[in-house]
Amino acid sequence: MPTTLFQPHDYRFPATVDEVLETLGQQGDRARVIAGGTTIHELAYRKGMGDVHTLLDITRLPLDQITPTETGVKLGATVSFTDLAAFVTAAHPKRLASITDAIAGIRPMQIRNVGTVGGSICSSLPFFDLPAALVALDARVTTKRLDGDSRTVPIETFFWDFFLPDLHFGELLTEVEFDLPPADTGGAFQKFESNSVDWALVSIGVQVQCREGRFTDARIALGGGIGRKITRAVSVEHALLGRSVSAETIQEAVRGVGDDVRAFSDFRGSAEFRNHLLKVYIARCLVQAARRAR
Ligand SMILES: Cc1cc2nc3c(=O)[nH]c(=O)nc-3n(C[C@H](O)[C@H](O)[C@H](O)COP(=O)(O)OP(=O)(O)OC[C@H]3O[C@@H](n4cnc5c(N)ncnc54)[C@H](O)[C@@H]3O)c2cc1C
Repeated sequence: MPTTLFQPHDYRFPATVDEVLETLGQQGDRARVIAGGTTIHELAYRKGMGDVHTLLDITRLPLDQITPTETGVKLGATVSFTDLAAFVTAAHPKRLASITDAIAGIRPMQIRNVGTVGGSICSSLPFFDLPAALVALDARVTTKRLDGDSRTVPIETFFWDFFLPDLHFGELLTEVEFDLPPADTGGAFQKFESNSVDWALVSIGVQVQCREGRFTDARIALGGGIGRKITRAVSVEHALLGRSVSAETIQEAVRGVGDDVRAFSDFRGSAEFRNHLLKVYIARCLVQAARRAR
């Protein structure tokens, strides 16, 4: 047990996004946004909160909306995993199944209830489940700065390293958006954990389109403990395109995953084991996603 627990000097509930941005601008690294607080809790426990003095709780801001748009869906930063899963189950269970798969694997239930979409992205840890599903869906992330500027970037480019999202000084992630995949597409997410409380060794988010028995589009996101950020299995994606939807095609395509990532060895598993898991789990996800695309 740590001898001293982290205690912020100031815990605030800002009334507006601008108030959050102003405080971040004034206090810099001494202020930190908190949403569900589940990553912050872990950081605090491990004495990883540095010089943070002020926590800015954004859960009372109107950022918890899920809004269907003309082309897809917009999620506010503080949408909880539980609310997102309920929305997808009711509205688009097949096309957005990678999201519900990913959320079903987030344990325990208390984390699903308080953990937020924005917090899971801004933690920038490849072990977290929802981001891989969102990379497979080609989601976009919008952030806002005090000068009123906002920018929208592909989520795939938002992760730089462990705990290092593409957030500039004083920026807040406000929303995440993705287009609704066409009706002939299907998604899936699967992960392998050596036990139920440890990080995933591999996690895979997949979105495929199948027309007239052939793969016509594929996006495969690789997370878990294989790299410092989520990576696309581009070689596998290319190997699927135009080929028949069959077990043979999938088995041939997954052989190329070694060109996309170099798995490493640690106490959880060897690189060889991880490479094997990658092939098995990408193949399983592709089979499941292709079934859902029918
Ligand atoms: C016991 C336990 C079990 C867990 N199990 C799983 C699991 O099975 N699968 C899984 O994927 N994850 C798991 N997690 C991790 C959890 O999902 C993430 O911690 C959660 O998604 C983070 O969201 P949050 O809202 O709690 O983030 P917070 O802890 O509130 O914030 C995380 C980070 O993001 C920053 N931040 C938050 N929101 C914003 C924003 N809008 N703009 C800018 N910065 C922001 C914060 O400053 C902080 O640096 C587990 C965590 C715990 C403690």
